[in-house]
Amino acid sequence: MEASLGIQMDEPMAFSPQRDRSQAEGSLKKNEQNFKLAGVKKDIEKLYEAVPQLGNVFKIKDKIGEGTFSSVYLATAQLQVGPEEKIALKHLIPTSHPVRIAAELQCLTVAGGQDNVMGVKYCFRKNDHVVIAMPYLEHESFLDILNSLSFQEVREYMFNLFKALKRIHQFGIVHRDVKPSNFLYNRRLKKYALVDFGLAQGTHDTKIELLKFVQSEAQQERCSQNKSHIITGNKIPLSGPVPKELDQQSITKASVKRPYTNAQIQIKQGKDGKLMKQSKTVDVLSRKLATKKKAISAKVMNSGVMRKTASSCPTSLTCDCYATDKVCSICLSRRQQVAPRAGTPGFRAPEVLTKCPNQTTAIDMWSAGVIFLSLLSGRYPFYKASDDLTALAQIMTIRGSRETIQAAKTFGKSILCSKEVPAQDLRKLCERLRGMDSNTPKLTSDIQGPASHQPTVSEKTDHKASRLIQTPPGQYSGNSFKKGDSNSCGCCFDEYTTNLEGWNEVPDEAYDLLDKLLDLNPASRITAEEALLHPFFKDMSL
Ligand code: ADP
Ligand code: MG
Repeated sequence: MEASLGIQMDEPMAFSPQRDRSQAEGSLKKNEQNFKLAGVKKDIEKLYEAVPQLGNVFKIKDKIGEGTFSSVYLATAQLQVGPEEKIALKHLIPTSHPVRIAAELQCLTVAGGQDNVMGVKYCFRKNDHVVIAMPYLEHESFLDILNSLSFQEVREYMFNLFKALKRIHQFGIVHRDVKPSNFLYNRRLKKYALVDFGLAQGTHDTKIELLKFVQSEAQQERCSQNKSHIITGNKIPLSGPVPKELDQQSITKASVKRPYTNAQIQIKQGKDGKLMKQSKTVDVLSRKLATKKKAISAKVMNSGVMRKTASSCPTSLTCDCYATDKVCSICLSRRQQVAPRAGTPGFRAPEVLTKCPNQTTAIDMWSAGVIFLSLLSGRYPFYKASDDLTALAQIMTIRGSRETIQAAKTFGKSILCSKEVPAQDLRKLCERLRGMDSNTPKLTSDIQGPASHQPTVSEKTDHKASRLIQTPPGQYSGNSFKKGDSNSCGCCFDEYTTNLEGWNEVPDEAYDLLDKLLDLNPASRITAEEALLHPFFKDMSL
């Protein structure tokens, strides 16, 4: 650094490459910002054009979120006498299935508005454009605050998440996409809100009528659209419906190029000339896991015992490849099992990753467990994988391969794994990752060498695949000693930034709860209602 400065001083200013570069970088950033601002302005104009009635009520100020299925804007409105209110406007992509949109809205109206579940104020529609207006909750970026949270704040965060999950689970809603960006947290006001029911599904006895209709085509259509956008990077224009041919094209493309890292999907021409999906063969031998630096290969199939109930596979055929790392012709001719897989890979429960058809509210509890793991270890995202088998192998490195295989049997899945990996002690793991030495209860290091700026368990072999992941790039966020962490609430958090309070005496109850959330068996996994009564929250009341 110093050397380069010295050289810079000796260089004639006008010809200094360093100076040129930093100037160029500065103006590039400015250009980028201007470009972004212009883009947002354009999007806002388009939204006013697409849904003109918005202009009568709202002043749209900014775009605050852009996902695959929606864009979210911050607006203000004079809804009652008194000061203007802040409102979040969620503009759903015009190609969303109408039943899916209606179901999302019904989740918000029926279950929302209390117990940390986001509610809804109004809904606007013009042609195929739908905008949901919700109370705006200013919130933090999880990554920004992760390592400045006090232990008490973590306890409150988890308690409030379970409160929200208890509420929606009582209504028979499986959220399916529980992750920090869908659980808004205002640290200063201690306010929380579970948002985004765009992937929700109903339990068999759901009280949300419309969720009874979203499980099949609508869900699958959204899934394939999801993949097409992840793969191609195409964005559907905000206003104006997508031309049918184009949309169809991207869906077809998606079904051919699914983002399985090393998996192959064989598509064969059927007799009637139609494309027929035959099966997929999966080879994960070369996948490496950052924590273990060992290659683990895994293969999942329906366990013979459960075949009758858990799948549509022909049971009469005996299979040649059982307990091998090959896929035999009998298995290749089996129909591919269809099960819901929506959500974000790093937060998917083992039963989702192995395509268990009977999924319950327990899948949200697993995701809550992954969030808790991040909070206790100070690492986010904790798991980073681009396909289900890699994600499963990553889970094995934490929860143990034998344990995972055993649990999968209970829901009719047989997993083959090339290496045996033991389950890790959750306390030791979290303390090590957080930089705490369990023998000497104080911080030992801020940055942990090569692991910095990496998620805890990442896939390093396939860069192409990791680019497809929707979650932000993994960043290490060591225990923060610095002041002035960025925060989106504009509040002063100096008091928090050096707050190590409680971290040197994390009670056993925390790890007991974590263990019960990350229970590989969904049938015995702790429920939200039980979690709220767990001794970890002993002095907290609902
Ligand atoms: P998507 O389906 O595109 O993920 P979400 O409903 O999750 O849409 O919203 C995307 C982002 O917009 C959220 O992560 C959050 O940052 C912001 N957001 C959504 N709803 C609100 C709200 N009511 N108040 C404040 N911000 C919100
Ligand atoms: Mg979301």
